[in-house]
Amino acid sequence: MKTLLTSVPQWFPISPYLACGILAGQLKAAGYQADTLDFNVEFFNDILKPDYLQTSLAAAKAFAENPLLHCSDKRDEEKYSRKMSDIAGERNKIISSYLAENEANISATISEIDGAVQVLKTRELFYDPEQLYRAKDIVKSALRIASLPYVPARIQIDNYIANPYMTYDFADIDFQCREPQLNMFVPYFEEKLKAYDLSSYQLIGISITDLSQIVPGFTLARLLKKYSNAKICFGGNYVYKIAKELKQIPKVFEDYCDYLLIGDGETTIVELVEYLSGKREIAQVHSLVYADTKGDIMATQTTPPLNLDKIYYPDFEMYDFEKYFSPEIVIPVQLGKGCYWGKCTFCDFYTGQQKFDLKSVVRAVDEVEYLSRKYQTPFFNFVDECIPPKFYHAFAKEIIKRGIKIYFYSFARLEKQFTHEVLKVLYQAGARFFMWGYEAESERVMKLMNKGIDLKYRKKILRDAADVGLWNLCTFLLGYPSETQEELQATIHTIYDDTIVNTSTPSNFALKKNAILKDHIEEAEITDFEPNGELHISYKYHSDVNTMEEIKKNRNAFEKQFLIDTADRLFPHTFTESDYLLMYLAKYGRDYLKSYRLKYKKELLF
Ligand code: SF4
Repeated sequence: MKTLLTSVPQWFPISPYLACGILAGQLKAAGYQADTLDFNVEFFNDILKPDYLQTSLAAAKAFAENPLLHCSDKRDEEKYSRKMSDIAGERNKIISSYLAENEANISATISEIDGAVQVLKTRELFYDPEQLYRAKDIVKSALRIASLPYVPARIQIDNYIANPYMTYDFADIDFQCREPQLNMFVPYFEEKLKAYDLSSYQLIGISITDLSQIVPGFTLARLLKKYSNAKICFGGNYVYKIAKELKQIPKVFEDYCDYLLIGDGETTIVELVEYLSGKREIAQVHSLVYADTKGDIMATQTTPPLNLDKIYYPDFEMYDFEKYFSPEIVIPVQLGKGCYWGKCTFCDFYTGQQKFDLKSVVRAVDEVEYLSRKYQTPFFNFVDECIPPKFYHAFAKEIIKRGIKIYFYSFARLEKQFTHEVLKVLYQAGARFFMWGYEAESERVMKLMNKGIDLKYRKKILRDAADVGLWNLCTFLLGYPSETQEELQATIHTIYDDTIVNTSTPSNFALKKNAILKDHIEEAEITDFEPNGELHISYKYHSDVNTMEEIKKNRNAFEKQFLIDTADRLFPHTFTESDYLLMYLAKYGRDYLKSYRLKYKKELLF
């Protein structure tokens, strides 16, 4: 009995995805064979090549000469021919203006892409900020070329922008999964799968953790259903969040998958393999959704909480680290599960995980020590939603006691227990930055968000962190419903304050299906909301105070200006480059990064 666990585009291709490693570790410990395959990193390696870009460019030019789109399957015509015609018009406009404006850059990008990828993967080149930022811009331009035949859908290193003419209703996703003219992943996976012998697998798992993976993940699943005999299983945080909707769609179980694995997968994956090996009944597999022989969708009992110290170490043995767009190996580790606060009104990060719990300090440090030795790396990303200060302090002291040389980062809450002393010990243990949830400056807005931190302390914590040598990456939530312009400006003022904020990650407020706020919308002056597509995890909402469009407009205007104002700085703003930031901080330290001013002029593409 052999299982393949896969992760899919789009995800930032710097380090392996943890979920597949954890499940592979569980299966192997239970005596089953398990392989892992990162289709995301394969994808970026395959498309960031001169040949692929040349082919994309030729396809875009050919389209511009005959700018028409007809449904590949005649049965789709009634529903989609009008949309195909609109997309064709839009595509033609984008391609024509891109070709006219970028003639000189296109050939330079294609000839320089190999070198740019090498910069990202090679220590001697990567740690030169001038080369790094230039390489990142070349990759960005290359991905614009790769996207041209599929615009207005677009692949970026940090996102997949799905076709805006399509909704997140299953019917539209299904159409895109069958339509090679709209979805670059159809021809990509059709070709890619030819390179693999999948006949030895009885089960293939596909992990979907973000909206950006829905179209690619469903495309892969559909092709695997067609070309392999394996049972197909969807898992991952995103699948948990849309499980209710998926259960209502029989076609999902006919054309895309056999099972949904709901929530934490450590127990379910082993029980599912036991079922497929004839060792238990399907009803005895916890947290599973499947179609029975009559086609009825069934759901089994939820997995009992795990003893986290009993989870086996993640297994990354199958990963080819040379393929990652990074000169160092950064290992993701989960020290616990869930969020110990779990009450922020807007948040759905922790949903799908069992009730908050932590590994014991000794077990957590054992795991880090083992992984550091096994993969010969000091770099770690603790992927937890937040780690309590008391635990973190004890963890850091244990790292120091054992003399383990590592560098790490994680999310953290601005709790007053992160004292100067605790932060100093964390720095000594190898912490180089924390991703603090600052959210908003306004006390009123913070209260509405129910962030649950004592606001008197948060700037002191950030100053103390800076004092011990830590870098402060702060996440901000702009446009919380009812936030006034003055309140928004106060937050923006904080984002610009580089004595406390070194990197900012500003997000728009979104009304998530699984967030607490959904049941208390009146508190945030939301009048009503409606689905944004069956498989989308946020709602469209209405507010008389500030609309979704205004929030987006304000945020875009702020972000554009911020990027211009900080264009010569290192890492002023990021959503996905935290691993790079860790490497740079480990090599150069906070002061160097803070004072460095780039001579290279970043290309600010808006
Ligand atoms: S935003 Fe962070 S602290 Fe708040 S509930 Fe979500 S994970 Fe927990």
